[in-house]
Amino acid sequence: MSKNPLNKYKRLVIKIGSSLLIDAKSGSLRLDWLTSIVNDIAELKKIGMEIVIVSSGAVMLGREILGLRNKKLPLEKLQASASVGQIALLQAWGAQFNKYEINVGQILITPDITEQRRRFLNAKITISTLLELGAVPIINENDSVATAEIRYGDNDRLSARVASMVEADCLLILSDVDGLYTHPPQSEVKGEHIPLVKFITPKIEAMAGEAASHLARGGMKTKVEAAKISTLSGTDMIIAKGAVLNPIKDLANSKYTLFVANTCPKAARKRWILGTLEITGKIYIDDGAVKALLNGNSLLPIGVRRVEGEFSRGDIISIFDEQNVEIARGLAGMSEKQADIAKGKQSGAIIDLFEGITRTELVHADNLVLLNNSEKKQ
Ligand code: GLU
Repeated sequence: MSKNPLNKYKRLVIKIGSSLLIDAKSGSLRLDWLTSIVNDIAELKKIGMEIVIVSSGAVMLGREILGLRNKKLPLEKLQASASVGQIALLQAWGAQFNKYEINVGQILITPDITEQRRRFLNAKITISTLLELGAVPIINENDSVATAEIRYGDNDRLSARVASMVEADCLLILSDVDGLYTHPPQSEVKGEHIPLVKFITPKIEAMAGEAASHLARGGMKTKVEAAKISTLSGTDMIIAKGAVLNPIKDLANSKYTLFVANTCPKAARKRWILGTLEITGKIYIDDGAVKALLNGNSLLPIGVRRVEGEFSRGDIISIFDEQNVEIARGLAGMSEKQADIAKGKQSGAIIDLFEGITRTELVHADNLVLLNNSEKKQ
């Protein structure tokens, strides 16, 4: 895979549409295709890449299993289909990865998980932990409980939110089209293929049109929306045709559209932390802790002198030195109540204090932004 555009990435989210996984005529899984993409992914894992999959297909598979194909279904039957199909979907992925001794983990997501900070942090930690354990997280929307008002409805935008959440450096959307064209997919004119998009302008958006394939709900419009989310979060996005066998290996020789990220994930997170207006918690720390932060370490409760205000795990908090100067901001790893009990204590003692706690940082180094005035102290 020498010229493969994916080779430079470390953490990749792959979005797989229903029309690739399921044969439109028979309604059953395209097992040969599934086998081939799992083979590709196992190769990527061998070279050290971390892979997260966003897989559609639950509804289509469930309809087939329940004998509900080719019928217009009310929402509750679609949701019942998703619930049955999701099991078949994960079993299929699991069986293929099993051949390579790779474990898979299922995560079902609703928009509130990616939008609410606390749930966001939990989902992010679970996915990162699965990756650390060498497993492949397989994500879908929680279709069987999501209602019309609280659902993405398409896995394009969901996969972009996931890529931004896990700070992937690339989102690969495997689709039934090989990228963006100068004319919308439904137009009479085929238009010219666009290999590279540096900025998503209104002109680019107009090229997406409204069309969707008959199996997937997304179409090019939601893909360009996904590209907006991704590129603003520091994630490149590639749209490529996935229908061929070994679609990832094949990328080296095929057409695709690359949307280039406007920033890097770290800078995007920093902006997000600094851009939060509502900060309800303040933490006052001793000089030892200040030094630790300046050296790039996490904020541990041992260095905390005082906790003020109200906050929950996942909220942004301000960090002050002994001279009451705000030196950093970051994402709280515990609530103010826990922080107040934990302050001044060693990490080992904190583990015993709170049931179920495994991380004792008050603010993890990855979620901490030093403010400019702290640099003077170095
Ligand atoms: N979540 C849906 C499913 O698994 C698919 C949504 C989409 O195709 O974008 O069936």
